[in-house]
Amino acid sequence: MGITGIKGMNDILPGEIETWQHLEEQARRIFSAFGYREIRVPVVEKTELFCRSIGETTDIVEKEMYTFSDKGGTSMTLRPEGTAPVMRAFIEHKLYAQESISKLYYIGPMFRHERPQKGRYRQFHQIGAEVIGVDDPKIDAQVLAMLSHYFAATQIPDVALQINSLGCPECRPAYRENLIEFLEQRLAVLCSDCQRRYTSNPLRVLDCKVPGCKEATLAAPAMLDNLCLGCETHFKQVREHMDTLSVGYTINPRMVRGLDYYTKTTFEMVTGSLGAQNAVAAGGRYDGLISDLGGPELPGIGFAIGLERLALMLGEQSIEPPRPELFIATLGESATNAGFAMLTRLQRQGFLVEMEYTGKSLKAQLRRADKLRARRVLILGEDELARGVAQLRYMDSSIQEEVALNGLENRLLNEILDA
Ligand code: ATP
Ligand code: MG
Repeated sequence: MGITGIKGMNDILPGEIETWQHLEEQARRIFSAFGYREIRVPVVEKTELFCRSIGETTDIVEKEMYTFSDKGGTSMTLRPEGTAPVMRAFIEHKLYAQESISKLYYIGPMFRHERPQKGRYRQFHQIGAEVIGVDDPKIDAQVLAMLSHYFAATQIPDVALQINSLGCPECRPAYRENLIEFLEQRLAVLCSDCQRRYTSNPLRVLDCKVPGCKEATLAAPAMLDNLCLGCETHFKQVREHMDTLSVGYTINPRMVRGLDYYTKTTFEMVTGSLGAQNAVAAGGRYDGLISDLGGPELPGIGFAIGLERLALMLGEQSIEPPRPELFIATLGESATNAGFAMLTRLQRQGFLVEMEYTGKSLKAQLRRADKLRARRVLILGEDELARGVAQLRYMDSSIQEEVALNGLENRLLNEILDA
């Protein structure tokens, strides 16, 4: 075996890629209709960007980032998520000066040094969307309507939307203190990770997958019961608008997100069919993030969809390559050259046409035409070329006829377009 790829970083092969293209095309189509425009940002950023936005005490920053210093000594990080880079670009290019509402989407790879397993990789892909500039609950509901619609349109089975509110700088600090007090009394039964982080990031204990921690926090106070009036009203209005738009959801008061910047509405799209990797999309409101990064005081909300998990859910069936409209089989050098020229002319017209380039026997050429599932085969020999004719065989019906080369390409083009 020669050089292999890197563990947890996958090749997406022909046969698999069609599913990915479907997922990406639907996103572009749907997000465009909702008024979003694409933004592309680099896959590396200064490390500081992620530390400041995602938070120093999160799993991502504490243990999952691919960080290195470049030759000039700057600390750089392969992006673990898309929101922070998009906000960095939004601020840097003053996109807020152009419009009072910015709707942006991105598609691309993200990198996290996690333990590779089904649905969890070190390079994975996200499609994400962000709305900046409005904190009206209608926007939260619309973002969730778009996300739900995306899952319906891509025919992803068995997903459910869960929502929660994580409060704001007005109500979260008091809740946090409450939660720390609650956890302090149960410290002995928490896992070592949670014992260490319960004061620095107590909300993460609620998200811990260790059964002992889950059990110990069953009766923990919920942020949802401790919202300030502003957050409570916001959450109520989001739900009302979702009802108006017929977006289904359940409330999950225990949902916390693994990134510090979230405020108010947070949500996850979950599935029962991927085992422990049950979140296929996640997001929320981040009203303080843009100003924390040195930008203007603007609210934002967004989500990211994990593409690998969606591809897994759409099944492993490999998609067959498209059928060539024509396979050109030739005998003799001048016929091969004439066939090669015709091949290129038809390809320039946008049709899938194939031939064999290396002068194999007619039998071998026909075998390849069969393998490619060509719809038609054109057989062109030296004598025929001299007479200005060729044999055209329709593979599905086995009908074969002699055709004049003159006008043949137009006839084929019309036939293909009519089909
Ligand atoms: P998880 O709880 O599964 O670790 P997360 O909360 O870390 O997810 P987010 O940062 O919110 O995930 O990312 C949004 C989505 O991106 C996830 O719902 C998931 O579908 C996908 N995702 C996140 N990490 C990975 C990964 N390592 N491999 C594949 N997909 C991932
Ligand atoms: Mg994670």
